[in-house]
Amino acid sequence: MCAGNEVTVGRTRVRLIQGDITKQATDAIVNAANPSLMGGGGVDGAIHRAGGPAILQECRQIVSRIGRLDTGKAVITTGGNLRARRVIHTVGPVWHGGNRGEAELLASAYRESLKLASNHGLKSIAFPSISTGAYGYPMAGAAKVALEAVITFLRSESTSLEEVVFVLYDAKAYQAYSAELAGFMS
Ligand code: ADP
Repeated sequence: MCAGNEVTVGRTRVRLIQGDITKQATDAIVNAANPSLMGGGGVDGAIHRAGGPAILQECRQIVSRIGRLDTGKAVITTGGNLRARRVIHTVGPVWHGGNRGEAELLASAYRESLKLASNHGLKSIAFPSISTGAYGYPMAGAAKVALEAVITFLRSESTSLEEVVFVLYDAKAYQAYSAELAGFMS
């Protein structure tokens, strides 16, 4: 089913909104982290600023256990002071022109985040547009990969998730994701 900015896949609603992911009250929000898990710019910096030091403290413990986080993988921490109880940190690919497995790595970042959310029994999750800031992935291509990865996951896996929200920061991102979502439904 499709109505403008949302689509229902099985029992899960996939929705697009324009806004700030740090303000979302979903069970988890996803951070477009870098492999060090030590924070950074963009959405990563915003999440750590809004969530406070408890998030970084758990990230440090994870790094001391597993080392740097590989591209396409995901880990989960507390949400600290955020409205969301948990943050799922995933690392999207840096764009190198498209011939270095970027699309598959980006799809993996979404898939691994969804798996982790399901394994924790979460009902709702919010994603930013991973890799489309400092990592340079072209917006339209990233939107297609993101929506395809999420919809494919929801069609093929059983999941606790009832809602997946894409929180697009600006109008350009929102429009790109809306156009791709419409393409999926036609
Ligand atoms: P990456 O390194 O994966 O490219 P960035 O944080 O640089 O990550 O950018 C990813 C996307 O997140 C960009 O489209 C950027 O506009 C967006 N973004 C930045 N701040 C926020 C925020 N507070 N909420 C939602 N999206 C954000």
